[in-house]
Amino acid sequence: MKRPVPASVTPYEGWQAKAGDDAVHDACGVCGIFAPGEDVARSTFFALYSLQHRGQESAGIAVSDGHSLRCHKDMGLISQIFTEEMLESLPGHLSVGHTRYSTTGSSIVYNAQPLMTHTEIGQFALAHNGNLVNTAELRDQLNDTLVPTSNSDSEVMARLISQAAHGTMEQRIEEVMRRCIGAFSIVLATESQLFGFRDPWGVRPLCIGKYASGYALASESCALATIGAEFIREVKPGEIVIVDKDGLRSRMVETHTRPANCIFEYIYFSRPDSQVAGRELYLARYHMGRNIAKEAPVEADVVMGVPDSATAAAIGYSDESGIPYIEGLMKNRYIGRTFINPDHRMRVQGVKLKFNPLHANLAGKRVILIDDSIVRGTTTKQLVALLRKAGAKEVHVRVTCPPMRHPCFLGVDTATYDELIAANLRVPEIQRAINADSLAYLSEDGLVASTARERKEFCMGCFTGRYPDGIHEELTGRVREPEKVKA
Ligand code: SF4
Repeated sequence: MKRPVPASVTPYEGWQAKAGDDAVHDACGVCGIFAPGEDVARSTFFALYSLQHRGQESAGIAVSDGHSLRCHKDMGLISQIFTEEMLESLPGHLSVGHTRYSTTGSSIVYNAQPLMTHTEIGQFALAHNGNLVNTAELRDQLNDTLVPTSNSDSEVMARLISQAAHGTMEQRIEEVMRRCIGAFSIVLATESQLFGFRDPWGVRPLCIGKYASGYALASESCALATIGAEFIREVKPGEIVIVDKDGLRSRMVETHTRPANCIFEYIYFSRPDSQVAGRELYLARYHMGRNIAKEAPVEADVVMGVPDSATAAAIGYSDESGIPYIEGLMKNRYIGRTFINPDHRMRVQGVKLKFNPLHANLAGKRVILIDDSIVRGTTTKQLVALLRKAGAKEVHVRVTCPPMRHPCFLGVDTATYDELIAANLRVPEIQRAINADSLAYLSEDGLVASTARERKEFCMGCFTGRYPDGIHEELTGRVREPEKVKA
């Protein structure tokens, strides 16, 4: 076993992670409901409430009563934006909702969704999860008279639908789906119909539930469960689902791509109680823990996870290794996003705003700390320091994914090449930078095996630098050459 690194060791020389929010952020959560005879604004609120982990920057709900669409959106958490009165002012049986974390477009209310626009066949409201990689090209194709008012790729899509060759909404969507390259899981409401459609790679999730007198669509099945909708299936990559007074029907848009689901949904983004491909994600995370215990064993007294995202993996590591699982950090689950900025002294405290150590469980112990990812390395370094200060004798870090050496261009804010610690340092150097006694990452094979699916079904671009076929080619000049990324 490696000798403990003294607490006085300084960060690896030459690497200074930029200050900032050191986490992986998803781009958005979306939902839509069609339920004749019901007021759906309240259910949409609660569906979004269960998707809050996918974005905390802004949110909105658009509702149609069959004649016109009304929308309310603002900056902040769902619970900060909507009041009883606000929900009552949105009567109707057809809705779409959105909660946002921006990747393209600034964090301003202009970019909050759903986006409202119109065609000559009527109004529509659109909510998008994902990120296009050919936005600039698409923007150039828009009519000059309809310059986008926001700077998001979602508005470009909405404008394209609005300007598409004459036809039904279904035909317009199909036309635009063929032109857009990248990730898009979208819900769209007209005055009388609900649409859900997913890019041909199926990068971001979207699922269908049976809801009371109609149907619900949502980014994750946990949102369906919250509003009492019964999960039916996922929207297929390249599929358009249409819900109206005649029920639910669907059509496939022919493309020549193969599915490439984002594997990070398994590692971190989606809630563990959401299901993908017939399994709750909790199980995949549990097996990530078991697999890294097999790949990178270490002698220790206790194993703990960074709450809450690494809890399942820590239990898996404990079960595989026989090392007792403990709770080592208490998380303030109500911290969320606030408009009250911490003062300088509190900002310096960093993770202490969010986590407090449990001294009784840590003092004098050799601790294995399981985390789901390391982005810039700043949070992990602070967590290791927190555990040491609480008396941990050794801290061994195990990460349930491979090193993130490349950014995501598909709707996830994973930081830039300059900010990603694994794009700039080798694993032993990262270990020194975060002041851990040992550090190991789960292998690509170990990660895929944990999902019980095949590697060819996934996008793993942020680990491999190879993005899904058809998207990768669009990223020329944006992906760093392999020799410029530390292996
Ligand atoms: S690059 Fe990474 S985060 Fe982005 S879609 Fe692919 S696997 Fe997901």
